[in-house]
Amino acid sequence: MHPPKVGFISLGCPKALVDSERILTQLRIEGYEITPKYKGAGLIIVNTCGFIDAAKAESIATIGEALEENGRVIVTGCMGVRDDDISKIDDRVLSVSGPQAYEQVMAAVHEHLPYQAQHDPLQSLVPPQGIKLTPRHYAYLKISEGCNQTCSFCIIPSMRGRLVSRPIGDLLTEAQGLVNAGVKELLVISQDTGAYGVDTKYKMDFWNGQPIKTRIQELMVALGNMGVWVRLHYLYPYPHIDKLLPLMAENKIAPYLDIPFQHASPRILKLMKRPGDTDKILKRIAKWREICPDVCIRSTFIVGFPGETDEDFEMLLDFIEEAQLDRVGCFQYSPVDGADANELPSPVADEIKQQRFDQFMQLQQQISAAKLQNKIGSIQQVLIDEITDFGAIGRTYADAPEIDGQVHIETDLALNPGDMVSVRIAGADEYDLWGGIE
Ligand code: SF4
Repeated sequence: MHPPKVGFISLGCPKALVDSERILTQLRIEGYEITPKYKGAGLIIVNTCGFIDAAKAESIATIGEALEENGRVIVTGCMGVRDDDISKIDDRVLSVSGPQAYEQVMAAVHEHLPYQAQHDPLQSLVPPQGIKLTPRHYAYLKISEGCNQTCSFCIIPSMRGRLVSRPIGDLLTEAQGLVNAGVKELLVISQDTGAYGVDTKYKMDFWNGQPIKTRIQELMVALGNMGVWVRLHYLYPYPHIDKLLPLMAENKIAPYLDIPFQHASPRILKLMKRPGDTDKILKRIAKWREICPDVCIRSTFIVGFPGETDEDFEMLLDFIEEAQLDRVGCFQYSPVDGADANELPSPVADEIKQQRFDQFMQLQQQISAAKLQNKIGSIQQVLIDEITDFGAIGRTYADAPEIDGQVHIETDLALNPGDMVSVRIAGADEYDLWGGIE
């Protein structure tokens, strides 16, 4: 019997991508074939995102398309938390489940597309590190699920629950497996990466026969000894994050901090239920740069939060000017269902949100362009992602995949994705760099 085909669409953030990888791995282990087409698929699985309204709209449109094109659809992921949200949209959906609901998804597949593989060797078709949706040379390492914070604009805790840290021994075994399989860059992700282990009271665990605490510091030291780039994402600005900077200064882990600050007006930060001492943040940034001059700081901000005045916005611009951050993302406030902040008075009009977003991004582009100009003439280590007609495209330690800049390399050398090369930088714009092999 030919193995049945399953189509899979993975929407949302890297954490959702890791969930998709787990479901795909289980499908392959059980012998199902994965197909990129609607036609001929026994059913389609859509892993949805419910973070902001734009993401919800994309998820709904994707479910609609899969129903039109195939008609047999299983929905999972963050939008599946409230299944009535989905069944209200279309009751033809076969099954609805929330994030990380691997068993439920597989149970639905078994019910609607039963298949008993003839023999076990299928197991051997699945690589030991499982099915990965990232290129072979980098991989996401999800270290925990959920979040204990209560940021008033965010519904992730209501979708993904309270913080649950994965055992550090399991994590290090998975990471070592990825490195053995050729991964050159590990991207450490979760909703609240810095809080890793707090739910276990930083319990002692074992790895390779050695005792090790379930805590971000110890995890980063151990990962840092694996000889690959280790990049940290989604850090809440806890004070103990400062302890990671010496590891970055020693290049044990990538000197890269992805740490959303969200705003700079103490009044707005209070309404967001976020740490509000901006002066302290500026002092910490200066200290980080003292310890690790090459540290690349990525942050994210929200403009148009309910109650945000011109004065609050000016404070944000002043902060950006002073902080001189390397990589910055900006969202216009989205009143997603269930966010406490929706109840706050004085919502900001959409056109004002857009104006502030444009002004904010324009300022940050100038800052980014000036910072990248300073890299001209320097020699950068570049991890190759892609081979092109003119040479290759890659990233420095300061560029996370999919969200930061790239390095465009002109060369005749035969390079491969995953190669690490030295590049002399010859040009720059507000996001990317250009150069030749040194
Ligand atoms: S820390 Fe992040 S995931 Fe947690 S509530 Fe705040 S914004 Fe949401």
